[in-house]
Amino acid sequence: MDKLIHGLAADATVRVMAAITTDMVREAVRRHRTSPTASVALGRLMTGTLLLGSSLKEYDRLTVRIDAAGDVEGLVAEALADGSVRGYARNPAADRPQRADGSFDVPGIVGGGMLNVVRETGFELGLRPEPYVGSVPIETGEIAEDIASYLLKSEQIPSAVMLGVTLQAEEPFVRHAGGVMIQMLPTANPNIAVMIEDTILHAPNVTEAIRDGATPEDLIKLMLGVIDYEILGQKDVRFQCNCSFERAVNLIASLGKDEVRSMLAEDKGATMTCGFCNEEYRLNEDDLRSILEQ
Ligand code: ZN
Repeated sequence: MDKLIHGLAADATVRVMAAITTDMVREAVRRHRTSPTASVALGRLMTGTLLLGSSLKEYDRLTVRIDAAGDVEGLVAEALADGSVRGYARNPAADRPQRADGSFDVPGIVGGGMLNVVRETGFELGLRPEPYVGSVPIETGEIAEDIASYLLKSEQIPSAVMLGVTLQAEEPFVRHAGGVMIQMLPTANPNIAVMIEDTILHAPNVTEAIRDGATPEDLIKLMLGVIDYEILGQKDVRFQCNCSFERAVNLIASLGKDEVRSMLAEDKGATMTCGFCNEEYRLNEDDLRSILEQ
């Protein structure tokens, strides 16, 4: 079961969060049939969004969108407070040969662009408050560094972000996925930042630790070394979309009765595919007629 944990370190001056997201990323890859490179890119973005949203409260929604200049065109992930995350790649077929060191060329398919973060609250209650939006240019396209760059430039939070998605040749293709994030609060002692940087520099590669089956706590220990920390909470996380047959019907109804009449006459039905989860909803003639009767 995938899990997200969060806590505080160094006398509550450093926030830490870590997650294992293997099943979540497997489900995204299964639904969107992403290429190997796009699978790694989408898995990293979904995991990073989950970590960035680790303190979401009920009715909050966090969306991270990369508008990419490269072949993948765009990547979107959205996290809710209950641990559900959904996401997609605009061009799931975008791919590149693996690099000489065996890593996936995520920057090759992202190719620059912008990373946008949208924080909203109350949307499920019908409220429409102004969303908080922050945007930064893509720096490396590796995604973890780009999220760290967003935190520093847009939220003035120095941070370290490590995201790992490892693949295997046979289904379900994703071997393990996860990530860890450390955020320095304004009260953090600069020496702590230096200690953490030093630990990270000498720690085994996070991707390798994830590949070898690390738990979220293992990842935090790996990042913090000898620094004391306390885990304050944990939650189960999963790939989950909020689309439904009813929402598909409402969407078709919103096109107007003339449009529905022509769907009925010409196509004898309608098909809606959810962009976030690739679920297909088929409305038959009776479904369309009941929209017209409303
Ligand atoms: Zn959906």
